[in-house]
Amino acid sequence: MAGEPDAHCLFCKIVAGEVPATTVLETETTVAFRDINPQAPTHVLVIPRAHYPNAASLATGAPALAADVLATAGAVAEQEGVEDSGYRIVLNTGSGAGQTVFHVHAHVLAGRGLEWPPG
Ligand code: C5P
Repeated sequence: MAGEPDAHCLFCKIVAGEVPATTVLETETTVAFRDINPQAPTHVLVIPRAHYPNAASLATGAPALAADVLATAGAVAEQEGVEDSGYRIVLNTGSGAGQTVFHVHAHVLAGRGLEWPPG
């Protein structure tokens, strides 16, 4: 069921503490941790504790939680000291767009030149 933990989901296991992660911020509804394969000096993933496969299913199924993810992304940027220099929030959606973990996650990227359009 939407929002319920998925026993096979890597990020649900991170939420449950069954897989280690370098957590930088936690809220009642979200967890933020450093990406294990960073693509920028700041590369943090923000996830809802509840399992939704992608951004659209999250926004449809739990709109307040979608807002929590974005608010945590902003708090991470502030904590990392990149709010003024700018940062990018990326929500890869679908394998064709590079999504490899199907528990919605917002990449927070900063600390280097961020080109547009993204690759
Ligand atoms: O958007 P995408 O699904 O490709 O992003 C998944 C991200 O999760 C990757 O950037 C990958 O490095 C990261 N990851 C992680 N910790 C894990 C497994 C994957 O930070 N244990």
